[in-house]
Amino acid sequence: MIQLKPGREKSLRRRHPWIFSGAVERVSGQPKAGDTVELRSAAGQVTARAAYSPASQIRARVWTFDPAEEVDAAFFRHRVMRALALRESLPAAKHSNALRLIHAESDGLPGLVVDRYADVLVAQFLAAGVERWRDPILDALAELTGCEAIYERSDAETRKLEGLEPRTGFVRGNRAAARCPIIEYGLNFKVDVERGQKTGFFLDQRENRQRVRALAAGREVLDAFCYTGGFAISALAGGAKRVVAIESSAPSLEVARENLAANAVDAAKVEFVQADAFAHLRALRDRGAQFDLAVLDPPKFAPTAAQAKNAARAYKDINLLAFKLLRPGGLLATFSCSGGVDAALFQSIVAGAALDAGADAKIIERFSAAADHPVALEFPEGEYLKGLLVLRA
Ligand code: SAH
Repeated sequence: MIQLKPGREKSLRRRHPWIFSGAVERVSGQPKAGDTVELRSAAGQVTARAAYSPASQIRARVWTFDPAEEVDAAFFRHRVMRALALRESLPAAKHSNALRLIHAESDGLPGLVVDRYADVLVAQFLAAGVERWRDPILDALAELTGCEAIYERSDAETRKLEGLEPRTGFVRGNRAAARCPIIEYGLNFKVDVERGQKTGFFLDQRENRQRVRALAAGREVLDAFCYTGGFAISALAGGAKRVVAIESSAPSLEVARENLAANAVDAAKVEFVQADAFAHLRALRDRGAQFDLAVLDPPKFAPTAAQAKNAARAYKDINLLAFKLLRPGGLLATFSCSGGVDAALFQSIVAGAALDAGADAKIIERFSAAADHPVALEFPEGEYLKGLLVLRA
């Protein structure tokens, strides 16, 4: 049982699932990491049942706000079923065989991420609670999805904060080739589930890749931070005249080249450049290169608000360079997946970049993560990806 300090049950009344260490008055019953504990207000009222995580600043994550609800294998099976039902109803399910099936807190399963790549699931157990229930969760996933194999990618940095060791490998079924072919809106991509970034593919950008595809006809396109070529290949499929794609990771570019070859597009129109995007954007500017559509999809510069200041400088640098590389009438699709930089701050950074570049620019659309990455209203932290489509006058 966790007794909260006076007033600290307020966030629970708004159904926020996290209890920070500073809100805890007393822990009784010597729970171990991942054990289910009751949360009690200072007045002694039971408000929720949660997973205990003694190593983490997020000391408990709520399973249920119904104190009478059992947290057992059936509970997890039910939550998995609910998450799968949501995905089945999404339009994207008709256009892709790769979807995020479980999006952690926003699906009532704090710390659990599951992505489906055709008939292979990739699962990440990122908090003590889901780690404790790993086996029943894996059983439910295998049974309810009918997938051939499950690969575990519990190697994200955030596991350290929970006092958990990294763990990777096939945990159900097996697959000789760990590169899974997927189809997204008719385009072929290979997903390296063992060594790729995150779980192997950036599913959150699916609909935004389609938007870029629709905008690309006849344009010269720049794709900075291209990973395995998602935006670059989508732009080509949309009729781009030429694409320059920049990525620092050699293994990612290797997959990008395979992806290019796997699609009916003119490979000669793409130039993949292995380089630091900051340096290469500068080099392109120095030699007077010009584009009609630029995509900036950098990695998470600021995982938390504490890193926001340095991240702001990095975002401003690349956006400023992108504005300088855009012809009049050009479009910039610029993204931030940093939890520590909210939409308002991101917009003001992009505004500062346009100003310094001497570009007259307008937001004409806004981007977010695809619908298989829902944001529970009571958990605004779930909203991390934002983007702007900016027209340079
Ligand atoms: N747009 C991609 C996802 C991009 S993820 C898609 O739709 O699939 C961000 C990418 O930036 C990663 O592949 C990472 O390797 C790359 N990256 C990180 N720092 C970089 C740098 N300084 N220069 C170039 N690429 C970088």
